[in-house]
Amino acid sequence: MGIDANDIIKNCFKLGIMISINQRLEKDIIELIGGDFGYTIEFMKEYEEDTLEDTPDPEGSLVDRAPVVTVMGHVDHGKTSLLDYLRKANVVAGEAGGITQHIGAYKVKLDSGKEITFLDTPGHEAFTAMRARGGQAADIVVLVVAADDSVMPQTVEAINHARAANVPIVIAINKVDKPEANPERIKQQLSEKDILVEEWGGKYQAVEISAKHGKNIDQLLEKILVEAELLELKANPDKEARGVVLEAKLDKGKGPIATVLVQKGTLKIGDSFVAGIYNGKVKAMFDVRENKMDTAKPSTPVVVLGFDGVPQAGDTFVVLESERDTKAISLKRQQLKREQDFRQVRFVTLDDISKQIHEGKQVELKIILKADTDGSAEALADSLHKLTTNETKVLVIHKAVGAISESDILLAEASGAIVIGFNVRPNLNARKLAEKNNIDVRLYNIIYNLIDEVKNALEGMLAPDISEEVTATIEVRQIFKVPKIGLIAGCYILDGKINRNNKVRLLRDGFVIFDGGISSLKRIKDDVREVESGYECGIGLENFNDVKVGDIIEGYRIVETKRKLITL
Ligand code: GDP
Repeated sequence: MGIDANDIIKNCFKLGIMISINQRLEKDIIELIGGDFGYTIEFMKEYEEDTLEDTPDPEGSLVDRAPVVTVMGHVDHGKTSLLDYLRKANVVAGEAGGITQHIGAYKVKLDSGKEITFLDTPGHEAFTAMRARGGQAADIVVLVVAADDSVMPQTVEAINHARAANVPIVIAINKVDKPEANPERIKQQLSEKDILVEEWGGKYQAVEISAKHGKNIDQLLEKILVEAELLELKANPDKEARGVVLEAKLDKGKGPIATVLVQKGTLKIGDSFVAGIYNGKVKAMFDVRENKMDTAKPSTPVVVLGFDGVPQAGDTFVVLESERDTKAISLKRQQLKREQDFRQVRFVTLDDISKQIHEGKQVELKIILKADTDGSAEALADSLHKLTTNETKVLVIHKAVGAISESDILLAEASGAIVIGFNVRPNLNARKLAEKNNIDVRLYNIIYNLIDEVKNALEGMLAPDISEEVTATIEVRQIFKVPKIGLIAGCYILDGKINRNNKVRLLRDGFVIFDGGISSLKRIKDDVREVESGYECGIGLENFNDVKVGDIIEGYRIVETKRKLITL
């Protein structure tokens, strides 16, 4: 659209959607953003998508399949704990060894013999990646809400995700073992978001669990199965497999490997497939315990070997009868991708150039400012803006009252800003995120210190004044030929001192013959670091042998001086 990524991020931010520059967006959000900037978004199909369209399943071919469940909720509400507990308690069920590898999904078997597949992908990547293309991997969402906390922004986000995808939600009210847990309050808050639990006359099933102690987890699984029954999940296992890539990586020994969730048909060793822009042939398949598998039926996650490149999470995975077809399709897709990439790259550079021209060569410091009161935020923003000069520009891109949150850090990352807190601190998650992403977070409680440090930082951004300092003047009085080393100049230090690390210039009749480094510096026979004025020494020049008696060697070093910011 020719719109700066930062503007898009800022726009989303205003809409309450926290995104970072390298995040995939869902189809609806893409449409929303396009609309906001006056564009109508048209989704292009992948090459050959039509030919790869699923064939209708004959009557009677459909059989029950396990539901695929994704766990969502606010950070620290217990998603990982729940998935960990399920993995330990149920996947192992009766089998020795347990899970040996993380593959992004696992299947749980209940005592009744029924199965549930859990997506185990952090950050719900696969879920959003699929939805970015209008598809979906999960049949049911388990929404985890901590009973000692409240319905939080990400809880609401998860509800919106699930609703938009039309995926039923089962509520897991977690941490009920905690004395301060208040499940009723959570139900109350959920009802405000139009999520009415069954016991309040609504349609949403809710279970009060403790992921830490495993309390009521069996009930949760039962409720998931009830929900699944209503969905009548079926698939035809008797055809070529289709599925979605959940995770993929390059393994040092095995090459590209990916976890594929089989959604329809049965995947077999030797099958030819297309996955996104790559193709391949199933060489081997493994489950989470690294057991070899020969076939994988619907709702089964499997690690597949045999890709010719690393696919992306969310890529569709389609088996075709002919290897020639899969190869041709992936080649064409790769070619299209290259063309698209090329167009994008050119676009970005042009954009950047016009931007630089617009702004001259000003450096820009972007700041996200959080403060304890409105008044101090305003005052600080004003003082910071005043630091703008011809060469440096200070931009407070976001200012607000309150603690430094994760969304502040995300915004900082997306826009290349630093975060300043005045009398406020980052919460734990924000701090962790900032550490992980190397975001500069600075905390102050004295206005003067804040302004002063920002000024210093700006001075640091100014290109320093570079000057040169001559450190030694040396006369060449004799030339020695040393086997294997080359020419060594027998010298006398007229002035200053010479250091092994100094740069040197060789002057002959005032002309510079050589400019470079020292390869050896010796006193008598010993290598030394430094020789003072009034002493003799041997100097070898780096890759240079044309030294003559009477030449002058000048030692020098480059001095960078920080420049001061002169404000108006
Ligand atoms: P996530 O960010 O949603 O994946 O949350 P985690 O699973 O990492 O849990 C966050 C914190 O809450 C951890 O310290 C867990 O030990 C704790 N926690 C999770 N579930 C429970 C629970 O049922 N009871 C108690 N007391 N603590 C829990």
